[in-house]
Amino acid sequence: MRPGIAELIWLLAGAGWFIIRLPHQRRSRKVPVARSAGGGHDRRLLAISWTGLAVIPLVFVTTKLIGNGAPLPADYTFHPVQAWIGLGLDLAALALFFATHRQLGRNWSVTLDTRAGHRLVDHGLYARIRHPMYAAFWLLALGQAALLPNWIAGPAGIVGFGTLFFLRIGREERLMIETFGDDYRAYMQRTSRVVPWLY
Ligand code: SAH
Repeated sequence: MRPGIAELIWLLAGAGWFIIRLPHQRRSRKVPVARSAGGGHDRRLLAISWTGLAVIPLVFVTTKLIGNGAPLPADYTFHPVQAWIGLGLDLAALALFFATHRQLGRNWSVTLDTRAGHRLVDHGLYARIRHPMYAAFWLLALGQAALLPNWIAGPAGIVGFGTLFFLRIGREERLMIETFGDDYRAYMQRTSRVVPWLY
């Protein structure tokens, strides 16, 4: 693949992500919040995740695409196979992201909230794992690491999203238990968090 293509794939995946989310973001503004468990803690986690998945790589990619080809600090030599791995990961991430948004429907929130009339979603992808949307974010973060040949901009998504994931997941599952009680406990018994059978 030609130089710059991997960066372009990263940008297009970001645009696809944004387009998939937009209608859900719009609709969620109209659905009243029932209980909020996020607060400042969750907003800080979102800022960290956003920095790693978007801000740092965007600075890297725009510098590369409009730059004169001079290497940046922490650059390494790109292997073409990285572009194919990154493309595969990003396509899988987008497909999963699209499907999870459809299946969560009006129960989705960007922060840790429940909505009026919140229902426990346990069908489709949610019948297997409890956090398929976060699985999509993990794939996107791995795609970024494959696509951007820089030791800071590449892994920044894994670090940023990983921070959000590990510091949020316990709180989210507690919120679900407070909301759905034994139904959620039983659901936890028959599902994994992110990787079927493993975790
Ligand atoms: N962790 C899930 C959902 C991410 S969106 C995933 O990765 O797919 C976050 C919101 O989804 C939380 O505020 C919570 O209220 C809601 N949520 C999480 N799991 C849910 C489920 N099984 N059913 C309904 N809502 C859920």
